[in-house]
Amino acid sequence: MSLSTSIQTPIVTFEQPLGLFINNQFVKGLEGKTFETVNPTTEKPIVSVHEGTAEDVDIAVKVAREAFELWAEVTPSNRGRMLTKLADLFERDIETLAAIESLDNGKSLIMAKNDVRNAAGCLRYYGGWADKIIGQTIDTGNETLTYTRHEPIGVCGQIIPWNFPILIWAWKVGPAIAVGNTVIVKTAEQTPLSALYACRLIIEAGFPPGVINVISGFGRTAGAAISSHMEIDKVAFTGSTLVGRTILQAAATSNLKKVSLELGGKSPNIVFDDADIDNAISWSNYGIFYNHGQCCCAGSRLLVQEGIYDKFIARFKERAAQNRVGDPFAPDTFQGPQISQLQFDRIMEYINHGKEEGATLALGGERHGTKGYFIQPTIFTDVTSNMKIAQEEIFGPIIVVQKFKDEADAIKIGNSTSYGLAAGVHTSNLNRAIRMSNALKAGTVWVNNYNMISYQAPFGGFKQSGFGRELGSYALENYTQIKAVVCRLTDAPF
Ligand code: NAD
Repeated sequence: MSLSTSIQTPIVTFEQPLGLFINNQFVKGLEGKTFETVNPTTEKPIVSVHEGTAEDVDIAVKVAREAFELWAEVTPSNRGRMLTKLADLFERDIETLAAIESLDNGKSLIMAKNDVRNAAGCLRYYGGWADKIIGQTIDTGNETLTYTRHEPIGVCGQIIPWNFPILIWAWKVGPAIAVGNTVIVKTAEQTPLSALYACRLIIEAGFPPGVINVISGFGRTAGAAISSHMEIDKVAFTGSTLVGRTILQAAATSNLKKVSLELGGKSPNIVFDDADIDNAISWSNYGIFYNHGQCCCAGSRLLVQEGIYDKFIARFKERAAQNRVGDPFAPDTFQGPQISQLQFDRIMEYINHGKEEGATLALGGERHGTKGYFIQPTIFTDVTSNMKIAQEEIFGPIIVVQKFKDEADAIKIGNSTSYGLAAGVHTSNLNRAIRMSNALKAGTVWVNNYNMISYQAPFGGFKQSGFGRELGSYALENYTQIKAVVCRLTDAPF
């Protein structure tokens, strides 16, 4: 099979790389395997890409290790310049990158463009950080000089999911590269295409060979090879809590590589009687149905105070029923298909659970159309905290609604899962907003909005939603290790 092919989409035709990207070259996998990536809108294969396995990971690690030594010779400002150039190239090729995302992932073109814009912004932001990494000088007395250096960790493995293929790629690559690491990214097997296209831009931006490597492949082979590799110094993972545990175990039983995990969520979105109802409805709709519910931070549990409950739910149902579901390339589409048959089946199973557990199906609950992995926007009411649909991450366009009495009740229900990624609070009472933000066990609390993620602000989980923070200056800590240097200033004999 060749190393690239032409792909036509409704908005652009482009040359799509298909190989693994190692040492700035597109290559075939050593085992000669390939796998298909499927268009979730049509259920038909788009193309096959070359598959990386453990031996390919070994080669990538070798070149990334050599590149790490040379990369250290590049000045921080020049590292930053390359990231900034890459950001410019993302913006130049936004139509192509967005079209690939819509084709391969099924997200609407408008949202795909947003992802590319934010990916570019994120790369530029970390390009800005590259020459602003500073340590401390520490007063340890007049006879010593003590200072710290924030040094790169080395070769980093980065395992990413399919829900935001190019955006999370940028979230991971940006900070790691800014501070002088080299990386091996394993993309999700469902969505390998946009990252491979970005590899062409990596060459164009001037990155030396081996600094950024990208492997298409499966979790149990390429992914497991990364997390258990003896020569990989750090692994960063975004995905399910289940796989997060295996990554941590593999790191522990191999070389104790550093680990950061961004895992699942079951985030509460809490609406008080005193909220601006129109805004709360819009944000709640966006909070769950954005990206087809395939967001780790989705506001998948809607908690509504009893005084406005009936009115709010009636209007929320109306709003959700208006979401346009369909072809990602159609200009008015809000919700595209779920990523795969597997995810479609998982979600439909949760819908059945909800019905069996006695929740009321207030909206949706069925497949949308007859082709593609589309699911209707779905609302369950009369949900209790002990139900499976209130505890487990569904990762689809399904929201479960619970009624609450007062702040204490909202906090109790809000904190009643094993996750702690995000939460939303809608109220016009400032003191209440702050009290609630303090009490909710979540890495992000959105007040009178939902899903407003900025690459300048940290993002990550409490409890079983993971550890380590992505984005903002905090993400730099994932990719640096601190060295204390103690110099004795006196020449007197010891
Ligand atoms: P997953 O966790 O299996 O996959 C995420 C990434 O991990 C992919 O790149 C995959 O190849 C890799 N992977 C899988 N097994 C691995 C292993 N043993 N070692 C190393 N890497 C491995 O997620 P999924 O099966 O695609 O989706 C299942 C559920 O995960 C979803 O329903 C959702 O609840 C959750 N999920 C969460 C996120 C998030 O952003 N937090 C993203 C995707 C999926």
